[in-house]
Amino acid sequence: MINLAAICNPSEYNVNPISVIDANFLQPVKIVDVCVQQKKWLIHFSTSEVYGRTLASYLGDVDYSNPELYELDEDSTPLIMGPIGNQRWSYATSKQLMERYIFGRHKEAGLPFTTIRPLNFFGPKMDFIPGRDGEGVPRVLACFMTALLDGQPMQLVDGGMARRTIVSIHDAIRAIVLMINNREWSVNQIFNVGNRHNEVTMKELAELMREAYAECTSDATHLKHPIVNVSGLEFYGEGYEDCDRRMPNLTKAKDLLGWEPTRSLKETLLETVTYYYDQYRDWPKTQRGAAVTQA
Ligand code: UDP
Repeated sequence: MINLAAICNPSEYNVNPISVIDANFLQPVKIVDVCVQQKKWLIHFSTSEVYGRTLASYLGDVDYSNPELYELDEDSTPLIMGPIGNQRWSYATSKQLMERYIFGRHKEAGLPFTTIRPLNFFGPKMDFIPGRDGEGVPRVLACFMTALLDGQPMQLVDGGMARRTIVSIHDAIRAIVLMINNREWSVNQIFNVGNRHNEVTMKELAELMREAYAECTSDATHLKHPIVNVSGLEFYGEGYEDCDRRMPNLTKAKDLLGWEPTRSLKETLLETVTYYYDQYRDWPKTQRGAAVTQA
């Protein structure tokens, strides 16, 4: 059984916490229980967000001088989340409890499991574009893409200083297929799936995406596409708090599965931006602009 169902969009976490907890904990409990009854191997998609914020961010190590305070290891890194009032953590805590439930069922009832913690998968078809095939605020890739398509400014939340590592969907799928095909190595393990080499701040991501957009449209004016700052409160509403950095330790996936990501950030962004451009280029701009304003 492979469980991919989730609500995993930060714009939902602080404004719709009950549906987030329902979709990410209460409902999947039933899936785990069925797997126990039927003696099935459960491959569960969790999230890198279970790590919460880095120890470095709490200790004021702003230069990240000590990797032990920010590197994310599946089996030893503590999972640290903010206070209850910051409902951003409704997602991370639901996912964490789900992981603990699965592990508990493994220990008590012998459930075979594999838990995957994705770190910012990027690629074609990763998200909706508001006003075309969805409504609301999507994740950062689609937010920046919508701005590029509409000729609206790309918005950097709190200055765009948060860092993410981005892994190509093709590399990620390869990891998952290896897990499925090598049960003896992947069973009863938790795996990070990410790419240490593709780390960017959100400001750098916005700049790289407008470069990719200029390349795929053959229009150099996009190199100057406007980028503006917006506060987390304005963008997501009350109760938003950001994960500062997500740098995965990937030695387990390499040692057990022989998996390493190979696709660079540049090629991943060019493929993804080109896909979105081809998919949505024929939408009249005014219609797109109107739809986004309503959203
Ligand atoms: N973000 C941003 N501008 C946007 C949308 C998101 O600066 O238009 C930031 C967000 O605050 C976070 C990062 O981009 O720091 C990644 O957001 P994403 O939606 O991918 O979710 P996450 O990686 O936190 O799960």
